[in-house]
Amino acid sequence: MKEIITSEFDSEVLQAGKVVLDFYSTECPPCEALASKFEDLSDLYGKDIKFIKIFRQQNRELAEKLSVKSSPTLLFYKDGKEVAERLTGGIRRKDIIRNLDSMLSEDKVAHIKSKVKPSVSEFDVIILGAGPGGLTAGLYLCQAKINTVLIDISLPGGHVSTTHEVSNYPGFIEPQAGYLLSHNMSEQTKLCGTVYKVAVDITKVDLEKKEVLIDEYETVKARMIVIATGTTPNLTGAPGEKELKGKGISYCATCDGKYMDGKEVIVIGGGNSAVEESEYLTRFAEKLTIVHQFDKFTANMQAQEKAFNNPKISMIFDSEPRHFVRDGEKIVVEIENVKTRERRKLTTDGVFIFIGMKPNIELFRGKLELDKWGYIKTNEDMQTSIPGIYAVGDVISKKYRQITTAVADGTIAAMAISKELI
Ligand SMILES: Cc1cc2nc3c(=O)[nH]c(=O)nc-3n(C[C@H](O)[C@H](O)[C@H](O)COP(=O)(O)OP(=O)(O)OC[C@H]3O[C@@H](n4cnc5c(N)ncnc54)[C@H](O)[C@@H]3O)c2cc1C
Repeated sequence: MKEIITSEFDSEVLQAGKVVLDFYSTECPPCEALASKFEDLSDLYGKDIKFIKIFRQQNRELAEKLSVKSSPTLLFYKDGKEVAERLTGGIRRKDIIRNLDSMLSEDKVAHIKSKVKPSVSEFDVIILGAGPGGLTAGLYLCQAKINTVLIDISLPGGHVSTTHEVSNYPGFIEPQAGYLLSHNMSEQTKLCGTVYKVAVDITKVDLEKKEVLIDEYETVKARMIVIATGTTPNLTGAPGEKELKGKGISYCATCDGKYMDGKEVIVIGGGNSAVEESEYLTRFAEKLTIVHQFDKFTANMQAQEKAFNNPKISMIFDSEPRHFVRDGEKIVVEIENVKTRERRKLTTDGVFIFIGMKPNIELFRGKLELDKWGYIKTNEDMQTSIPGIYAVGDVISKKYRQITTAVADGTIAAMAISKELI
């Protein structure tokens, strides 16, 4: 593996056969998450493909010339030409491997695969999920000098990292940008010494043996596991939704609201997220219509008041979406009045769906006791039905799901585990 500067780009990349080039930055959590994967893969593939790093902040002009817009970005070159898809954000090992393999012959790939050795690492505690619940458990465990690893299929932060503003987390007078609050939580836990394995694929979890298999080759073992995997947004299930997901239909106002400048938007839902995020979306959208299945919202009164007083927001009650279809640049949403059965079509620039969440328990289904909605049952110490397995945050059975409640659960689990492990 080698680090280069702009003047070496021609000789070290364009004239160097097969190359993978990592544009990285400092103070960049996804770059940190990539670093160990890049190094590990350079040991495996390094004889056939050159692994090169370049510091984006000091080689800005080259980055701009190559249209590199975020860090990290991985570019793949063969004989001076860029090949394979560029990778950015929380880059997964399997995606890098797919691109590297596409640059080599089948024989070479088979030879490299035969060199992959399974690895095993051991900790006192594995935390699955690095949202507020998992990060807090990690912080407390780390401060109690308990050897802990945080494993997440995505980058750390959970839902908070994509929430535009958080105004109800104690300790801050002004509302905090969600990404900043989650970044600070994550850095605090990391600085303490908790090991991070993020943007990984979790292929298997054995709750009885307390083992987690990541990226198909690395077994992580521990004495206890904390499940902090949170929730995923529900889909309406209407035809067209899956096809238009990420192509006009979004589940994250912070991520996609900024593309709605001066546009018309439809929001589906009527709870806290739908009404609060609608208010935020009107920073960009010219006109916003909330479509809600009941005759009144279930959001808190403060959020409702703001929405009713916002001249950009209008509401359609007693209605559900039945069909989403693209029409050129626009999306046509067919809605049905659930009382009169009357259907009509609304044309819009973008759709945001906030209709609740489902717990992320696929890896543990059938193994743990769940409530009737599929959330994990715990006792007051956050212990689940399997000894040594704890669960915290939005994934557990409880009435209220907030950052503060997830953080509280993480604290309780960590303190209970600390006592058990002494
Ligand atoms: C749009 C929106 C706005 C919100 N606004 C607020 C607010 O203003 N104030 C407030 O208090 N609360 C708010 N909430 C709720 C708050 O974000 C959650 O209650 C909180 O994030 C729950 O934390 P958590 O750690 O349990 O789960 P999450 O934040 O959901 O984090 C779960 C983590 O687990 C990871 N994960 C998922 N599956 C796996 C797996 N199989 N293995 C490993 N890792 C996995 C995910 O990648 C994620 O990082 C909001 C929620 C949403 C959706």
